Formats: sequence, structure tokens, C-alpha cells
Amino acid sequence: MEELKCLSCGGKVDINEELMIGVCEYCGTEQALPEDVIESIKQKKKEQRYHIDAKKQKTRNKINVIISIAVIITLLILILIRSTTPYLSKVYLTKERNYDDTPTNSVITYITPVKTFFVTATINNAKTNTQITYVWKYESKVINTKKTYINDTKNKIIYDSLMSDDSTWPAGDYRIEIYIGDKTKPSRSIDFKVNNKK
Ligand SMILES: [Zn+2]
Repeated sequence: MEELKCLSCGGKVDINEELMIGVCEYCGTEQALPEDVIESIKQKKKEQRYHIDAKKQKTRNKINVIISIAVIITLLILILIRSTTPYLSKVYLTKERNYDDTPTNSVITYITPVKTFFVTATINNAKTNTQITYVWKYESKVINTKKTYINDTKNKIIYDSLMSDDSTWPAGDYRIEIYIGDKTKPSRSIDFKVNNKK
């Protein structure tokens, strides 16, 4: 780019790229820039923008990679926890228990007369001597607590039953809570009802 000269004094003209004008170093006269100078400034700004965008994109890519790695690590940790922590699945109440220990059809509500509640669950990742506590509640009050220990880790189905001293459990709201180990929060719980036969 050839040097611009002031139109009034012939002095050196500074190019203000921000305002796209030329300003004389000596007398301060402003003058319009020739087309080719404007074009080359525009081109330069374009390239700068391109570089900034490329840098931003690079940073974004880096952040995406970091997020992906974090997500993968979190998933792996969750899988690890899931595969080593005992947990219950298929928890439900039944009316009876099959001879071969397989659960019968689940019930949500018992109808009087009902002498015995059954609860069944599948325990996963349990080690021998894992403590299982069953807490039965009637109208929010504990009516029975039973502790057992897993001694056969191959048989994953666990059971508990609660038999009434009378001919039937009274109608009302019940709850069964199953605790694993010395946890103070139940691993799983089921709220259920006993309704009077109409
Ligand atoms: Zn001048």
C-alpha cells in the first residue's frame, strides 16, 4: 500500500481503520481513503474475524471434549456403583407364596378377610451376610420389624410375610419398608391398603 499524503499540507496521513478515514499527522485534516485502501482494510478485518472465530471454535471443541469425557466418567462411576451396591428390584406384594419360592401375582390392595401379607423382591449385588430389615406399618405405626441375613447370594428372591393374630388384618393404610444393611432410609417401600369386602 503506497503512503497517503495530506491533500492540504502534503504531510504523512495516518489511517484510522476504525473510522475508515485518513488523518494528517501534521495539520489534522481528514480525508476519505481511496477504494483500494478501504478494500484492503476490510479484507484485513475479515481475516482477523476469521482468526477469532477459529479460536472460539477451537475453545468450543475443547469444552465439548471435556464435557464428553466428564459424562463418560460419570456414567462409568454410576455403572460401578450400580454393580457393587446391593439394591432391590421387582418389589411387590402378593397374596401367597408358591412352593418353589417364585412370586405369585402381585396385589396392590388386599380385601378382607386377609390373614397374611407377603412381600417379595429381587436383591442384586448382595454379599453373604447382607442384612435385610422388613418394617411393616399400619396407619404410620410400626407393627412388626424383622431382620434377616442373606446367606445364599445365588437365590436373589427375598420374601417376608406378616400374619395377623386375628382372623384378618383390619382395613386401613399399610406400608412395608425394606432396608439393606444398616441404612436408615428404606431401599424400597410400598404403601398399600386393606379394604373391607363389599
Ligand atoms: Zn496536512
